[in-house]
Amino acid sequence: MTPTVSQKVPLGALNSLGVSATASHFVEVTERAQLQPAIDWAHQHELDVRVLGGGSNLVLAQTVHALVLAMRLPGREQRAVYDNGDELWRFNAGETWHDTVVFTVEQGLCGLENLALIPGLVGAAPVQNIGAYGVELSDHLVGVEVYDCQLKGWRYLHTADCRLSYRDSLFKQEEGRFVITAIDLLLSRIFSPRLDYGPLKSLAGQSGLTAQQVMEEVIATRQSRLPDPTELPNAGSFFKNPLVDTATRERIMTEWPNLVSFAQEDGLWKLAAGWLIEQAGLKGKHNAQGVGCYEKQALVLVNPLRAGTAAILDWQHHVQARVEDTFGVQLEPEPRFWR
Ligand code: FAD
Ligand code: NAP
Repeated sequence: MTPTVSQKVPLGALNSLGVSATASHFVEVTERAQLQPAIDWAHQHELDVRVLGGGSNLVLAQTVHALVLAMRLPGREQRAVYDNGDELWRFNAGETWHDTVVFTVEQGLCGLENLALIPGLVGAAPVQNIGAYGVELSDHLVGVEVYDCQLKGWRYLHTADCRLSYRDSLFKQEEGRFVITAIDLLLSRIFSPRLDYGPLKSLAGQSGLTAQQVMEEVIATRQSRLPDPTELPNAGSFFKNPLVDTATRERIMTEWPNLVSFAQEDGLWKLAAGWLIEQAGLKGKHNAQGVGCYEKQALVLVNPLRAGTAAILDWQHHVQARVEDTFGVQLEPEPRFWR
């Protein structure tokens, strides 16, 4: 099968930061059978392969000199029903993540409700082990169907093989090697709510609470706090929450006793990066090209004028320098950079 490759395809509408980039080569993947020929074609033409989902976690260069595979594989399927109320479901990579959450909740399947309204597609969800309000994809992921570009073949990776951790995975560590075509999730008909996070705490103890109600609360909270990328271009949280040891936390707290931090199971402390940026005086501030920190949540970098990568990098470095000067802590960007 010869792939249908388009050239010089605009990506401005395909990335949530609104960078008006162009892909030198582009293929829309709607069937598994297209994948191997497209990857072989890229190798024959000495082009890197880049996998594009919804473009909501990307910082693009002006020209992406690569074969961009836009993953559009649709479909979902029930794979198994167990006596304890668990069900195994497969979702193909091109399904919209939020629609998947809504679908499962409407089916009476619980587990994904805290992960509502995260932009992007199913295939990208394992890449940074998406998480919100105390739930991560890894809590429900059973395995992933991939095409391995290095071994040139199809594989099934169980969750343990995916090296999932806080906003990290095998797919980030070996970027470019795997194309995820489907994910398998274990969901439950028995509702076990996760209500540890502030906005959800008010639901605790409510009799007859449903996954639908939790999902609605998550949606309402997110809509009130986070910018809609179609109105204000952004890529969500731009930095990971830094993990520090106890000595570092105590050092910072001598000067900043209100430091927002959370104990981790491994003895480290997670610092709220948005709080650090806000205290460093950058909430609502921006550079000459308009790139700045969102006025309601400083961790979100916004790009209202659809500036290019240089302006975004300029602001990223400014934020990192200010936080390091103020707290002695380094911030690591969360989105992927296609340079
Ligand atoms: P893309 O941006 O297209 O790609 C991201 C990376 O994944 C790239 O490296 C790409 O090559 C790779 N990739 C994509 N698809 C595949 C595939 N099929 N196979 C292999 N690699 C692939 N993230 C959270 O974790 N929690 C949140 O609460 C959250 N909230 C957000 C809110 C907003 C307003 C925005 C804009 C972003 C938010 N994000 C959040 C970040 C983002 O939505 C997620 O990381 C999401 O999973 C990215 O999906 P995508 O399809 O847009 O991926
Ligand atoms: P928030 O509720 O204001 O919380 C600020 C930070 O404190 C978050 O980063 C969160 O860490 C941490 N936190 C809060 N309560 C916690 C608790 N009980 N236990 C442990 N950590 C706690 O954050 P927000 O910006 O409004 O986002 C809400 C949720 O959506 C968060 O989980 C956040 O990660 C997620 N989100 C992610 C993105 C993204 O692009 N990655 C964008 C928007 C929202 P965690 O981030 O580790 O949860």
